[in-house]
Amino acid sequence: MYIIYNSIIFFYVCTFQIFGSEHNSSNQESNKIGIIRVINPGVFDFQSEDFVIRMRAWGVSFPERGQVGYQEAINFTERMLLNTKPKIVVKKTFDSKNIKVVDLSFEAKFGSFSREAIAQGFGWHNESETNRFGSFVIAQLKAKRENQGIWSMNLNAGRDPVLTKPRPSFPGAYSTFPQNALPQINYWVTSLGKIHRPGCSFYERGRGTLTQTPRGQNCRICGGNKR
Ligand SMILES: [Zn+2]
Repeated sequence: MYIIYNSIIFFYVCTFQIFGSEHNSSNQESNKIGIIRVINPGVFDFQSEDFVIRMRAWGVSFPERGQVGYQEAINFTERMLLNTKPKIVVKKTFDSKNIKVVDLSFEAKFGSFSREAIAQGFGWHNESETNRFGSFVIAQLKAKRENQGIWSMNLNAGRDPVLTKPRPSFPGAYSTFPQNALPQINYWVTSLGKIHRPGCSFYERGRGTLTQTPRGQNCRICGGNKR
């Protein structure tokens, strides 16, 4: 017990010294600024000159701990972000969990971290957050077409329990997506007026209503009530 306690103190002293020394040399300072810790896929701690700030990548959602694809997503985040100093644009000062939402980019290596995560299928596009940002929409279409990452797993990484629920009333609409459209399909219309059909990853997600006579804008990924 004594040893553990002692080493905790030691850790704090070291940490304090590391952070404290930043102000001495401008050269070292710029080296220390950057992403020092990955918490979850897309969530990390950023060391600025004076603070450590918890941030989340904008416009992309990832599997949660315990879900299929979580480990891959956190490995990806570490590989891409740890000990780097990306260009950061704040998108939202704080989200509902009090985390700063940012867009990260590395001009030399690749574009936006979020876009890359979507393109490689480690996460999926959070459309409501980006208001359907075109570059992310396209990245996701491509990832789906190429069966990248989570899209190669049948149940969309098991993240959407809706997809695994039996749906006795519309078995056809569900299993034979959606070649022979049944006369009665329950479309999901979000509170923002987007129409999704069964099988779409946004189906029954967030706020919205189920209806057979949807009105609104068709989802660009699933086609809404168009196809
Ligand atoms: Zn859709």
